[in-house]
Amino acid sequence: MLIAHHCQGPRQWQNWETEFLRELATQVAIAIQQSTLFEQLQAANQELHRIASLDGLTQVANRRCFDEFLNHEWRRGGETPLSLILCDIDYFKPYNDTYGHQAGDECLQRVAAALRQCIKPKLELIARYGGEEFAAVLPNTDLKTALELAERIRTQVAGLQIPHAQSQVSAYITMSLGVATLTPCSETSPTQLIANADEALYVAKAGGRNRVVCA
Ligand code: GH3
Ligand code: MG
Ligand code: MG
Repeated sequence: MLIAHHCQGPRQWQNWETEFLRELATQVAIAIQQSTLFEQLQAANQELHRIASLDGLTQVANRRCFDEFLNHEWRRGGETPLSLILCDIDYFKPYNDTYGHQAGDECLQRVAAALRQCIKPKLELIARYGGEEFAAVLPNTDLKTALELAERIRTQVAGLQIPHAQSQVSAYITMSLGVATLTPCSETSPTQLIANADEALYVAKAGGRNRVVCA
């Protein structure tokens, strides 16, 4: 509402004056409406960005977000070690075959939630790396600390005690984990870090699963 008040006495408003005030009110209304729309657009964009970086099933970061975070932390560098843990659920195909895909999905959700509890939010990242694989990116973390965290993750997941009758290593769902650490520099790359962690994960699988191996 726009109010124009002539204080000193009665006033004969001219047609052009009321017309002018009407115009002014319209312009101000447009400005207010636009600013409201802009606020709504900003909120929608934020929500879009959040959804675009999350894995729909497990609500941890998705692969796209993982790539972005890892590359960003690598470029940030600063001569401090960057660690990566690749975690893969053991015998997950038999789990699906035994308990069904729906139960498999629920298992992934519970495992993801457990992993999320193990890291420092905002500083570190848990992402869904692939089907039943998760990754933890740990900036400013040396190999010893990363290994301790990997062991904590392994224990945490085993501690969920999700029954898995077809597992060859336990009565419950377990994980194998590969850990690698590199200090970002021009001679090496994030791809190398992933390859090292992947190789360690392979050794963990070959060595009997339900264990942590470092590159
Ligand atoms: P390993 O111990 O060697 O890791 O054996 P594995 O059975 O866990 O590995 P494999 O790669 O043979 O099987 C992975 C399974 O994960 C197969 C696939 O059906 C299942 N999987 C992948 N993504 C999803 C998903 O989103 N939901 C469900 N329920 N299952 C999934
Ligand atoms: Mg796998
Ligand atoms: Mg697996």
